[in-house]
Amino acid sequence: MQTSKVLIIGSGPAGYAAAIYSSRAGLRPLMISGIEPGGQLMITTDVENYPGYENPIQGPWLMEQMKKQSEAFGTKIINDYVTDVDFSKFPFEINTEKEKYFSYSVIIATGAKAKWLGVPGENEFKGFGVSACATCDGFFFKNKNVVVIGGGNTAVEETIFLSNICKKVTLIHRRDKLRAEKILQNRLFEKKNVEVIWNHELKEIIGENENKLIKKIIIKNTKNFDENEINLDGLFVAIGHKPATEIFLNKLKIDDDGYILTKADSTKTNIDGVFAAGDVTDKIYRQAVTAAGMGCMGALEAEKFLSKKKIS
Ligand code: NDP
Repeated sequence: MQTSKVLIIGSGPAGYAAAIYSSRAGLRPLMISGIEPGGQLMITTDVENYPGYENPIQGPWLMEQMKKQSEAFGTKIINDYVTDVDFSKFPFEINTEKEKYFSYSVIIATGAKAKWLGVPGENEFKGFGVSACATCDGFFFKNKNVVVIGGGNTAVEETIFLSNICKKVTLIHRRDKLRAEKILQNRLFEKKNVEVIWNHELKEIIGENENKLIKKIIIKNTKNFDENEINLDGLFVAIGHKPATEIFLNKLKIDDDGYILTKADSTKTNIDGVFAAGDVTDKIYRQAVTAAGMGCMGALEAEKFLSKKKIS
């Protein structure tokens, strides 16, 4: 049984940034890395928008650097995952698959995962034409033809973003009404190079396995079940994300979409001493660099909390 000053749950950019800042502050943080250490960047190939690198870097490489940097300053990383927390006790109790831990502050950085459709071709071409993040991968499709699937704020924002880069963007939605806010819809309908296809679902993604390039998709009309083909260079699936918050249900304030609620301009949750950073609380920006920024905020806020409590 161990009691730490800072315990970080999750090992994506938010978790590592929190680890780097709190270890440099001498707080000797403990990190429980989770089931998929490194988070979403471990399944990303080229990263071109993380500041500091002129040439593209690989997602897994970037995470390895963050891990080494955290450890160099004294973060203890434990390969285990949290199964339960008790924030009604102080120090807080954190149970993992293998151990019980106590900590005077907790930074939650468990991230989120994009939802996927599960259609044939999706897995094979993920990272090779199929993406769930236009901000991350849109640039690779400059002056090309892409398709976005979805009808919410994310799908519409991604379509608008892509319309400024790509030759043509086709938004495919399974109903005849978008869920996205009206203001976004108005902006979308003003775009000359955007076509919206209503009442259609994606059935299959077809590409060249040797070159790892997607070529076309088959879509199905949800009303009369007719099938059509669309030629394309890139496909963006924007049907929502799922934050990893199951273990915090009924323990912290969580919104209707499952994201941990934090105070304005802060990583503070509704429990003093418990902080949330990165995609587990952010449904808008969802970038490695914003997650890292929030991780830094979490560490600074944890440090202030501990010093107020005279825990040094
Ligand atoms: P949403 O859950 O709001 O929308 C998901 C969309 O994907 C829906 O239109 C849904 O269709 C469609 N969809 C879901 N499953 C499938 C499927 N299997 N096949 C085809 N289509 C499918 O997710 P978002 O990521 O858009 O947004 C999540 C939350 O984040 C929302 O609260 C949103 O408002 C917020 N957000 C806010 C932003 C901002 O304020 N700028 C930016 C981005 C997100 P259907 O409509 O038929 O259910």
